[in-house]
Amino acid sequence: MFKKNMEWEIYKKYGKKPHEINKKNKTINLKKRRRKAYKNYLTSEKWRNRRKEYLKKWGYNCQECGYSKPGKIQIHHLNYFRLGEELDSDLIALCKRCHRRKHL
Ligand SMILES: [Zn+2]
Ligand SMILES: [Zn+2]
Repeated sequence: MFKKNMEWEIYKKYGKKPHEINKKNKTINLKKRRRKAYKNYLTSEKWRNRRKEYLKKWGYNCQECGYSKPGKIQIHHLNYFRLGEELDSDLIALCKRCHRRKHL
């Protein structure tokens, strides 16, 4: 009886049944976990080497505005499908300003 009432309270408050709310939370947690894994990857040795290799090959200049200054060029992921095994076509070198614009 009490459980039923609680479910009704939740339904009134959120417009959803409890199991639907749980489902939503699960996808949010998954997104959080993926973001965390991505952040970890960006600080890994593997990614540092991948970055260096890419910049060496394609040059230290922004592929959007042409700005060129070693150490100021960042690598942006065009997609995240092959995280850790990126092809050169999954990446783009950008200056800080152009990179920020990509994430707006
Ligand atoms: Zn730029
Ligand atoms: Zn980026």
